[in-house]
Amino acid sequence: MKSDPRSYRLFQRAREVIPGGVNSPVRAGKAVAQDPLFIEKGDGCRIYDVEGSEYIDYVCSWGPLILGHRHPEVIKAVQDVLARGVSFGAPVDLEVELAEMIVEAVDAVEMVRMVNSGTEATMSAVRASRAYTGRDLIVKFDGCYHGHADHLLVAAGSGVATLNIPGSPGVPDAVVAHTLSLPYNDIGAFESLMKEKGDQIAAVIVEPVAGNMGMVAPEPGFLEALRRETEKCGAVLIFDEVMCGFRVAWGGAQRLYGVNADLTCFGKIVGGGMPVGAYGGKKEIMEQIAPQGPVYQAGTLSGNPLAMAAGIATLKQLQKPGFYQALEENSARLAEGLGRIAQRMGVEVTLNRVGSMMGMFFTPGPVRNFEEAKTSDTDRFAAYYRAMLEKGIYLAPSQFEAVFLSAAHETADIDTTLAAAEAVMAGL
Ligand SMILES: *Cc1c(COP(=O)(O)O)cnc(C)c1O
Repeated sequence: MKSDPRSYRLFQRAREVIPGGVNSPVRAGKAVAQDPLFIEKGDGCRIYDVEGSEYIDYVCSWGPLILGHRHPEVIKAVQDVLARGVSFGAPVDLEVELAEMIVEAVDAVEMVRMVNSGTEATMSAVRASRAYTGRDLIVKFDGCYHGHADHLLVAAGSGVATLNIPGSPGVPDAVVAHTLSLPYNDIGAFESLMKEKGDQIAAVIVEPVAGNMGMVAPEPGFLEALRRETEKCGAVLIFDEVMCGFRVAWGGAQRLYGVNADLTCFGKIVGGGMPVGAYGGKKEIMEQIAPQGPVYQAGTLSGNPLAMAAGIATLKQLQKPGFYQALEENSARLAEGLGRIAQRMGVEVTLNRVGSMMGMFFTPGPVRNFEEAKTSDTDRFAAYYRAMLEKGIYLAPSQFEAVFLSAAHETADIDTTLAAAEAVMAGL
């Protein structure tokens, strides 16, 4: 479907000069056969396209905007920095402040290094793990997405899942030969791999709450098994909390589930909407990073003051008493409402949710891993997506992406969304 005329014209221009017209694949809307809207501005839980149409936004910039668009404290913090300059490539106070906040919030993080994206965070955490253990193999899980570094593009989620790309051309076999991928939540498969190859494994990397195959929660015992077996084998356990960190709880998924990682990757929320990533963990691992140690990792714009300021201002809001409770209540209202409506309308869906991250799969379920996620009726999802957009509800244009709520979504916005879903499901 064409989008509004102005977005459509912009998209035509974009396609001439940007591959696929977008700077990140899922945005193009291929999986739902819907051309993208070009966005003019955001305000709270709403976004406005270049034609002026208003939408309730459940993408939230793919997760970072847990406070919604243009939160006054975030805007003010960025404006204050702008008055000082945009980048110095030298240390600034704000880097220390954000690092201290992360170290204080996340029990297992003693030191943290700022980078510019989640991709850099996971890539660097894997490098540090390989250096620390002197081993090469890494283990990941099908449907988890850890950014687009070569060695992590194996059975990956997000756009790789959406576009049904098995791996990626351009990634040498020799590089992915060191990456093993297992089904998510399969404790037995993991234990037997560790029994067989545990002494060769540098790191096990996982999304402790998986949000790139739709949303899949860890089954009881799964994260505990990862912790137990990696410890036994001397492998580094990396939690990729780029999406779920500071979203599912203050202190991240590891606080929520009571399982600590050796290294943790952050991004999205810790940058408050600015380009940011970070990785951190045990001192004895992080002390290997240059210039303290020999493991090279650098960035011209790393620790950028604008990004640090947006991150700090965001985390300060999350620290307020009752923040996560309110978000939980509204998220439950949305998920329970959608479940009730689907049932009433006879639409088979499986709703997964952890806090303000959720996934609605068009399948009877359950959905505990990527194979089960793929049983979803993606054509039905596409029809739902387009009809919801028509009604002013902006969802991620893929069955394999999560739905995010922000603190700016109020009860009335959720009820508006539920009314739209009811009308849409009646026509599915
Ligand atoms: C978004 C995401 C990444 C990649 O982050 P970018 O900033 O897009 O490079 C990595 N891991 C997870 C779990 C993510 O959700």
